[in-house]
Amino acid sequence: MKYDTDNSDVMTEEKTPGQLLAEDILMDPKSLGETDNGLLERASEFCEGYKAFLANKTEREVVEYTVPILQANGYTEYVPGKVYAPGDKFYKVNRAKTIIMCTKGRRPVSEGIRVAVAHIDSPRLDFKPHPVFEDSGMAYFKTHYYGGIKKYQWTTIPLSIRGLVKLRDGSSVTVRIGEDEDEPSFCITDLLPHLAQNQMRKTASEVVEGEQLNILIGSWPFDDEKAKSRIKLAVMKVLFDTYGIREGDFESAELCAVPAFKARDMGLDRSMVAGYGQDDSVCAYAQLMAELDTKEPEFTTMTIFADKEETGSDGVTGMRSFFFRDFVEDLAQAEGCEVRHVLQRSVCLSCDVGSAYDPAFGEVYERTNCAYINHGPIISKYDGARGKYSTNDASAEMMGYLLGILREADVTWQMGELGKIDIGGGGTIASEISVHNIDTVDIGVPVLSMHAPVEVTAKADVYMLYRAILAVYNCDRPKDF
Ligand code: MN
Ligand code: MN
Repeated sequence: MKYDTDNSDVMTEEKTPGQLLAEDILMDPKSLGETDNGLLERASEFCEGYKAFLANKTEREVVEYTVPILQANGYTEYVPGKVYAPGDKFYKVNRAKTIIMCTKGRRPVSEGIRVAVAHIDSPRLDFKPHPVFEDSGMAYFKTHYYGGIKKYQWTTIPLSIRGLVKLRDGSSVTVRIGEDEDEPSFCITDLLPHLAQNQMRKTASEVVEGEQLNILIGSWPFDDEKAKSRIKLAVMKVLFDTYGIREGDFESAELCAVPAFKARDMGLDRSMVAGYGQDDSVCAYAQLMAELDTKEPEFTTMTIFADKEETGSDGVTGMRSFFFRDFVEDLAQAEGCEVRHVLQRSVCLSCDVGSAYDPAFGEVYERTNCAYINHGPIISKYDGARGKYSTNDASAEMMGYLLGILREADVTWQMGELGKIDIGGGGTIASEISVHNIDTVDIGVPVLSMHAPVEVTAKADVYMLYRAILAVYNCDRPKDF
């Protein structure tokens, strides 16, 4: 027994057998702020680049932003058939919306690769093919929401319009308007509370319906009394003068509205980031930084930004597209091996956000198996719904392999289920990877207000996910199961 030197009234006792045993065999989850108070500074520095990344709000914008970063870091465009040397860095873009980035490992790909995949599409309001209409002296864009949203959250917030239009002459025009203060803003209107008695009695899914998500874009008629639809004509003239867009060109366009907020520090202590599209740009950014920082790994890394996750991963740019497998097959063939042998020896981190415990809605979480902000990335052995339907359920062997790597690299993680059983559910890209016979685990940053126009993450978790991915990319240990 010894006395505390600072305060002679307090005795510091030696640990009892029970305390020692508890330390040895029980878990004692702590916030990263308690275990490493200096972490916030490093995490904040890391998140400066992350906030800039969040200015890209569609899959196209993320890809367009990422390619020059890759090139500046020594990546070259993938050449099919080429045999790459250890440390070589290369990338391949798929239809301007998804991208695969690799660093060639010391071992041949036949011994397996290390995959990390995140998605770069986020819930938003896509435009219908005939979006412009005029009603009661106002002009609007009609939208069709993309992904799982609470529709009422998308009214009365500033929106910006993004996308690509193919014009009839074959040229393309990129639209990005509504973000800067000198640009016009857009919004969806909502009913005043004074007249909302009936509306307020509706269930939340009906308070604002899909067909009411019309974006207000004009109210002043074109100056010609003989012209028809003069408000619509006036706004179309602006689009035509600015971009060369005629109404028919919307039929060959991909335009959407996204929240016009900039990503910002959140909280008086600036410990968090508030911004749109953090699901799943937060994981994409962590992956990108880990990919860039991996120099000559034992196993080839493959960092994937996928599209269409929010609507089920279908389509040529979704993770169910053969693009991924064909790419791995190209790598395999160049090295004279079979794609199936590469896949079975590979492992994948399916990087996607998870739900962070929110005390305002505590009843949907199971407190011993949910995730908390500032406790590190969430690892989910399984997700899905009900009786584990539609889930990639990682094996004990895969979990042991991954956790061993993280432990060795001193990375803090937490295990988390989305919420209580039978209260809802959700899935990730993990199943689209494991179908290829790749052992896959879900890992991601806990998010508050997921899928809302402004989502919240903790900086320390973002940084710790980066360290987790980096640890896997830099691990020399082959898969032992
Ligand atoms: Mn996601
Ligand atoms: Mn999502």
